[in-house]
Amino acid sequence: SPSPAPKMVKAIRVYELGGPEVLKWEDVEVGEPKEGEIRVRNKAIGVNFIDVYHRKGVYAKETPFTPGMEAVGVVTAVGPGLTDRQVGDVVAYAGNPMGSYSEEQVLPASVVVPVPPSIDHKIAASVMLKGMTAYVLLRRCYKVEAGHTVLIHAAAGGVGSLLCQWANALGATVIGTVSTEEKAAQAAEDGCHHVIVYTKEDFVARVNEVTSGNGVNVVYDSVGKDTFQGSLSCLRSRGFMVSFGQSSGRPDPVPLSDLASKSLFLTRPSLMHYTATRDELLAAAREVFANVAAGILRGRVNHIYPLSDAARAHADLEARKTSGSIVLIP
Ligand code: NDP
Repeated sequence: SPSPAPKMVKAIRVYELGGPEVLKWEDVEVGEPKEGEIRVRNKAIGVNFIDVYHRKGVYAKETPFTPGMEAVGVVTAVGPGLTDRQVGDVVAYAGNPMGSYSEEQVLPASVVVPVPPSIDHKIAASVMLKGMTAYVLLRRCYKVEAGHTVLIHAAAGGVGSLLCQWANALGATVIGTVSTEEKAAQAAEDGCHHVIVYTKEDFVARVNEVTSGNGVNVVYDSVGKDTFQGSLSCLRSRGFMVSFGQSSGRPDPVPLSDLASKSLFLTRPSLMHYTATRDELLAAAREVFANVAAGILRGRVNHIYPLSDAARAHADLEARKTSGSIVLIP
């Protein structure tokens, strides 16, 4: 018998690397799930700064591709042999594989986690990748404890706002940097004890003042080029530098000997290495969803765009116009 017509859905495609205009809204074919796979109809798609790196080629990627590293959706088909997933399940994924800027997609079942029914789709999409990143940064790379002082750059951003909420709940003194007064107000609401508008003030001098010259235990730096050197200056003796992004560009190389003046630690973590096994992924997701349920993490869905408008979402994110999370709705 003839095979059925292929199922077509709308998705964003990138054929050449470049600005937001390279994000094209197109019809694509979505196949049937094979062994170990499921098909998911996406309900809410989280936008992450890494999507910009992929689009521009900062992180190498073969074209053409569908961008997007996370989504929350409903299972519409289950591949042969899978018993622990059912049509109708609400699931989420964050990290590999790519392709979430799509109405529907096929995924390995091993990458998805169940979403508790009490958590709204959009909230889940705003805390999945960004919340698991906050978990890795605050609980695994360095263990923040009550009494620690932490510095968080881009404190009103997607990851930044969750870092502030969580670090505050852990009992840390939280210092955050932001570019505008509006973002400063949000960071304060999220539990930042000291907010520095780093576009107007010298953040190193302010951190020095706030800590009475002692410096901070740990810096979480996702801004990169513009802040990296200053961040090192903010650390106390044996402090921990966590460089986890480069929103302003790649930081300049650091001579190892620069760390010797204060016996500093330096790490450059990637979420996927901390969620590489199924157990690690489930533990991270469980921790995030439990903190959402407990009211400790309050996902800020500050911007909602139709999926077809992904280019506008990217343009706004890159122009530092956004705060909290951006969610695309198919
Ligand atoms: P954000 O919402 O934090 O957006 C980026 C923010 O960075 C901006 O809002 C802006 O805040 C600040 N920024 C400072 N300088 C610039 C600049 N020149 N251009 C653009 N933005 C700038 O994004 P996400 O929450 O999605 O991601 C935050 C960072 O964390 C990214 O660098 C991302 O790559 C990284 N990340 C890393 C992961 C990992 O595994 N290592 C996982 C997840 C995220 P302001 O206006 O206040 O300066």
